[in-house]
Amino acid sequence: MHRIAIYPGTFDPITNGHLDIIKRAVKIFDTVIVAVANNIEKIPLFSIEERVAMIQKSVRDISHVEVDSFNSLIVDYCHQKGAIAMIRGLRAISDFEYEFQMALINRKIGKDVESVFLMPKEKYTYLSSSLIKEIAALGGDISSFVPDVVKNKLKEKYSK
Ligand code: ADP
Repeated sequence: MHRIAIYPGTFDPITNGHLDIIKRAVKIFDTVIVAVANNIEKIPLFSIEERVAMIQKSVRDISHVEVDSFNSLIVDYCHQKGAIAMIRGLRAISDFEYEFQMALINRKIGKDVESVFLMPKEKYTYLSSSLIKEIAALGGDISSFVPDVVKNKLKEKYSK
């Protein structure tokens, strides 16, 4: 059986923490689809197309990764792709409550999709897309937190 997992998220933008999770996930699954959520509740800095393009460039050297976007229920999207699992990253206890709630809700509405939680390297546990945007907006150095393509796009965004 070809085991497919979906790694859903906002990825506004992708960080080295997300990449760490992707690299772990491809060791467990045959294909990992990084799926950008078209989340109407969040107002993103980058468009869906920009976020997808940045991810594509960042995962170029990692095999068995695909990039896509979706605007349906995550469990419906998993079924559509034939995925058996969805990947989520856990950084700290603070992530736990929300992720626990989501995993149980998703299990209720999409029974045959398992939520799989992976932990990044310690040095990425304090990283978040929103923190990166804040630092970049104030002109701080983010080169050790994000891939070069993201660093350049952020520079471009905030120099306007
Ligand atoms: P969402 O809006 O779905 O939380 P994010 O892009 O913020 O979208 O995060 C997607 C997933 O990646 C979540 O499971 C989140 O916990 C995880 N994640 C975010 N940043 C990191 C990081 N630095 N290390 C590990 N996992 C992370």
